[in-house]
Amino acid sequence: MAGILFIISAPSGSGKSTLVSEVRKQLSGIEFSVSWTTRPPRGSEQNGREYNFTTREEFERMIAAGVFLEHAEVFGSYYGTARQSLEEARSAGHDLLLDIDVQGAAQVRAKMPEAVSIFVMPPNPRVLRTRLRNRSRAEGVVKEEEVYRRLNAARNEIENYREYGYILVNDMLDRAVAQLEAIVLAERYYRNGEAIAYRSRRVLEVAAACLQANSQERLKPVLEAFRIMGSTGQQQLNFEEDSDEEDSDDDEEDSDDD
Ligand code: ADP
Ligand code: 5GP
Repeated sequence: MAGILFIISAPSGSGKSTLVSEVRKQLSGIEFSVSWTTRPPRGSEQNGREYNFTTREEFERMIAAGVFLEHAEVFGSYYGTARQSLEEARSAGHDLLLDIDVQGAAQVRAKMPEAVSIFVMPPNPRVLRTRLRNRSRAEGVVKEEEVYRRLNAARNEIENYREYGYILVNDMLDRAVAQLEAIVLAERYYRNGEAIAYRSRRVLEVAAACLQANSQERLKPVLEAFRIMGSTGQQQLNFEEDSDEEDSDDDEEDSDDD
């Protein structure tokens, strides 16, 4: 049975890693490609687990040696997926999930148009800011500059959502996890004829609702919040109307979703 290649992209801080790790606990037969990066480890990250950490010199040597299926520069650091990840998953007959940015996703789609691509969005910029700050805080210190760098990049990344087959809005974590799981199960069902063990009709409905073509109504408020719909030219995200109610240490996000 052929393994399926899943690509998942999201603005940094949307909750993609959280979602992926939840889904991996629940589904078997799906490998996660550990990327290479030149950025330093964050928080409790371990070399070889979240990323393979390396130097710019070594990364450039690897690019020249053709090691990467795709690579891109994100926030001033290199990130790349080794071809070996794909080869290993293929020979094991496993699905493979790539957590890569929009540039890397475009490179992979051009080489492998059969890949299933999923874009994860935060519900609005304020929630994204909160998540970025909370993550920073959990890692030791809130670097406001880094938070704003990632926030400002988010809008540009979200503009690429049309390139993706499925769209998730990561508002309630449990729901987004169930949606991601449904997408994987539905694709296995349609492509490989693999039976869905539990509530198969519901699973297929949940996955179908996440198809980009069926997501316009659901996306409208998100795109508006990021000033994407109906906007002309570049606009800065405006946080001025936000009170700090969402910014306290225990705002919406921290309550019960994590
Ligand atoms: P990404 O991988 O997209 O950069 P993370 O998975 O690191 O993002 O999530 C960023 C922060 O948001 C983390 O502190 C995580 O615990 C939190 N988070 C993720 N998803 C949710 C959610 N649905 N509700 C509340 N908090 C969330
Ligand atoms: P972070 O530093 O927050 O872990 O990741 C920053 C961005 O780099 C995220 O958008 C993430 O998806 C992306 N990224 C992680 N690994 C890769 C990779 O191998 N290739 C590409 N192109 N992007 C990656």
